[in-house]
Amino acid sequence: MQTNFSETQLADPEIAVANDILRSCVHCGFCTATCPTFVTLGDELDSPRGRIYLIKDMLENNRPAGDEEVLHIDRCLSCLSCMTTCPSGVNYMHLVDHARVHIENTYRRPLADRFLREVLARILPYPNRMRAALGLARLGKPFAFLLRGETMLLRRLRAMLNLAPAKMPAAQSLGGTVHKPVGEMKGRVALLAGCAQQAIGPSINTATISLLTRLGIEVVIPAAAGCCGALVHHMGRHEEALAAARRNVSAWSAENLDAIIVNTSGCGTVVKDYGFLLRNDPMGGQAAEISAKAKDISEFLLKIYEPTQTAPAMTVAYHAACSLQHGQQISAPPKILLRKAGFTVVEPKDAHLCCGSAGTYNIMQPEIAASLRRRKLDTLKAKAPDVIAAGNIGCLTQLAGDGVPTVHMVELLDWMAGGAKPAALRSSH
Ligand code: SF4
Ligand code: SF4
Repeated sequence: MQTNFSETQLADPEIAVANDILRSCVHCGFCTATCPTFVTLGDELDSPRGRIYLIKDMLENNRPAGDEEVLHIDRCLSCLSCMTTCPSGVNYMHLVDHARVHIENTYRRPLADRFLREVLARILPYPNRMRAALGLARLGKPFAFLLRGETMLLRRLRAMLNLAPAKMPAAQSLGGTVHKPVGEMKGRVALLAGCAQQAIGPSINTATISLLTRLGIEVVIPAAAGCCGALVHHMGRHEEALAAARRNVSAWSAENLDAIIVNTSGCGTVVKDYGFLLRNDPMGGQAAEISAKAKDISEFLLKIYEPTQTAPAMTVAYHAACSLQHGQQISAPPKILLRKAGFTVVEPKDAHLCCGSAGTYNIMQPEIAASLRRRKLDTLKAKAPDVIAAGNIGCLTQLAGDGVPTVHMVELLDWMAGGAKPAALRSSH
């Protein structure tokens, strides 16, 4: 694609990167067919190619974001399905990240929108605040019917209440802990404990630590490490995202580690991008090293996992989180591991399409998210599974509550290696 940035514009390293990405797009449109928002809405401006044109026009003309760009870029899930499909290797992720920062810096959102985004940015990255908010949401859930009306704010508030779990798990605080391996030590890793995950899915970290230590791996969770920054990064809050990245790079660099293990693939995609995010920062070198050491739990387990139990006859529908299959290009390892554990693994039709979770997307874009959820659940349930497994807490929350238990794949692997049966399965099998 031809671009027309001036020399002055290209002197800005961020614009220079955007220019390179734009020029790599040959506007063939192959990406449209695999874009969930284009498939759902049928509007070219809700396709990757349409968004690329909008971003190009906005950046080239060096103008503030307008309503049209914000509407269509906000609707993008950052699922990165387009990157898997694109034959020209267009780095849509870095382009849309840049566009989101430009929107945040140049566009004044309506008051209700600003308020909600501020609340989400101040609560979600902090497990204790999130637990408190979910506790309040649970109390408010029976009164959701009072939020009648079709303003966007009310629809978003209803979506938030719907996400509150029926039962709150026990609080988990892993910061500053070290978990010794069972038997001979074969490696030492840091675990990114996650923020939402510690609040709503603590059993995932418990199973990860249980499995890794049983396989001879020491697991540390440095007190100084925290949220990976993905939530604010996807809101275009660049400085907050950089601060989160710097804090984690510093905390992990102080440890002697073989790997940084991430069991929430949405976070893993961002940690693997720290090297790029901090490329112009004094910590850039360290950040690149940390990104190179970051591994999804399925990648890390691939060579060392050994089940010790005989699996019950169970069909596991594997839902591939976008951040794992598109963001990190990891498709086979989770399925290989689940089969090795003894389960029958099935996959839904259109496995490349997002379930609609996508960070805060299911709150900010409740209708599109609900439509994608329904489609994903229908295709998963068409395979008659006993359980749905995924590698990302966001997807598990999005797909819960429709009659089929949802578990993180590491919980199933840990169970078959002598760990506890996943709580979601305790009334069955
Ligand atoms: S598939 Fe790639 S090159 Fe083709 S329009 Fe989409 S982003 Fe551009
Ligand atoms: S990231 Fe996903 S939703 Fe956004 S343009 Fe690409 S395929 Fe479409």
